[in-house]
Amino acid sequence: MSGILDAIGDTPLLPLERLARGLPNPVYVKCEHLNPGGSVKDRLARAIVDDAEARGVLRPHAGMTLIEATAGNTGMGLALVAAARGYALVCVMPEKMSVDKRRALAAMGARVVVTKNAPPSSPDNFQNVARRMAEDEGWFLTEQFDNPVNVEVHAATTGPEILRQLGRAPAAFVSGAGTGGTISGVGRCLKRADPSTRVVLADPVGSGLAGWVATGEMGPDGAYAVEGIGSSKAPANLHRAVIDEAVSISDERSFATARALIREEGMLVGGSAGTNVAAALELAARPELGGPVVTVLCDSWDRYFSQPWLARADF
Ligand code: PMP
Repeated sequence: MSGILDAIGDTPLLPLERLARGLPNPVYVKCEHLNPGGSVKDRLARAIVDDAEARGVLRPHAGMTLIEATAGNTGMGLALVAAARGYALVCVMPEKMSVDKRRALAAMGARVVVTKNAPPSSPDNFQNVARRMAEDEGWFLTEQFDNPVNVEVHAATTGPEILRQLGRAPAAFVSGAGTGGTISGVGRCLKRADPSTRVVLADPVGSGLAGWVATGEMGPDGAYAVEGIGSSKAPANLHRAVIDEAVSISDERSFATARALIREEGMLVGGSAGTNVAAALELAARPELGGPVVTVLCDSWDRYFSQPWLARADF
């Protein structure tokens, strides 16, 4: 152990003891919320900076600036890496994302730029703003949506950890997609171990990705409140060939499931973990599946304390 970055990964894989009770198949959750930055995105933050340093594009402690378009979690991961390696950090976030995430990033010394909730075609979209600022200022854009390191780190770490912890490939792996790094990388690794593993996208109602998985055309897009997953445009790191099926989950079910994880399982997670677990429970209810379902608890509840689904819960 040499520092906090060595505490990233090797997260627990735990069974859902209460929420999956009585179902024909068990559900296991990969506790990515227990990473030091509180989310699944710590893995890619470290891997993208390691890769750029190995290529000589970034140099630690040389006054360089990282910039990323983020729902907040990649920003938190990058803030850990920036602290450890002496980079400045700018995070560009759409205003939909919680105030708690902005506060946490600012507390870690990052500069936070908030954009409108604009579609990918708009110049005000957070990814377009980040790209423009990187070009204008000569900052390093970590580019989680396009950078293949995002997929590779999950194929090299998260996937093999699941195989080792479960002692076999699961019958199904369920995950939402923001950049697609988690589902594409883990899905590829598990399918290499056992081609019969079913890879299932958990998508918010209102996201166009579920329609895209089913037909190759983006589905209609609408508003939804779950943060960090779903899109009206398929990101380059979301590999359709690895996905067998999509399950759509409403905000209401995502948030009710996240609250149940908190109250009944003691797993202190955010809304997208609720989306994943709601979809995983659907898969586990299919008797013909004949084996365990694995999904991901993407991030921690502490970045949603200001959000109505958590703050107004009656506990
Ligand atoms: N949940 C949350 C809260 C996120 O911020 C993200 C990443 N944007 C994800 C899930 C999805 O992970 P990925 O980018 O690997 O698809």
